Amino acid sequence: MNKTSIKLTSASLITALSISMFPGCTNTKPDKTPKDSPSQTAAEIYKRPEIIDSGMAIQLLKEGNKRFVSNKTLSDDTTAEKRKSLVSNGQHPFAIVLTCSDSRVPPETLFDQGLGDLFVIRDAGNVVDPVELGSIEYGAEHLGSPLIVVLGHDKCGAVKATVEGGEAEGNIKEIVEKIKPSLEKVKHSCTDENQLCEACENENIKNSVAQIENDPIIKKLENEKKVRVIGAKYHLDTGLVSFEI
Ligand SMILES: [Zn+2]
Repeated sequence: MNKTSIKLTSASLITALSISMFPGCTNTKPDKTPKDSPSQTAAEIYKRPEIIDSGMAIQLLKEGNKRFVSNKTLSDDTTAEKRKSLVSNGQHPFAIVLTCSDSRVPPETLFDQGLGDLFVIRDAGNVVDPVELGSIEYGAEHLGSPLIVVLGHDKCGAVKATVEGGEAEGNIKEIVEKIKPSLEKVKHSCTDENQLCEACENENIKNSVAQIENDPIIKKLENEKKVRVIGAKYHLDTGLVSFEI
């Protein structure tokens, strides 16, 4: 088993297996919703595949986001049993998520995942520096996560502050400096501030993806097809995540 394949212990196998076996078939709702049967654990309702690659990891995130948006979250994959199993068996998160610190963008919630599922790195503006890269390298190389997601979001305050300009206080200017190259790239193609913020958010996601892919360790893993890096964007109003930004 190479590093694209990791063992999973919780939520959502039916979905991943169905999609894997029947590409294009995404109507994989379980017979019972978790809200209908509170006595069942997530692991009892959904069984997961033993092995997962980046494509299956993306499907798990998509299905989890679908549950979140439709208010059918499992959300009970935080049991004492799961907690103890993660201590004795160690963690095998199936995705690394770099996202904004914005309190409205908690990845475990909006992807409906439980303990041990996601390796999360957060900072305002989902920007990348050596500390973030070190965490990402650890998640990919040592924990074997096959997928790295840069998750930006709309109405991002860090991007808005960069677009509005002016002098940022204290270390906030470090974040603004990281987003400025993205602003420079898109500022001549936008006609108003909202459009500019949106374009800058998208470009900032792409910029973080590019920086991660440029990391020698990640580049090597990607060349070996052991890891994949993608951009995604969360929409605050709808709860939906758009993939492949
Ligand atoms: Zn933000």
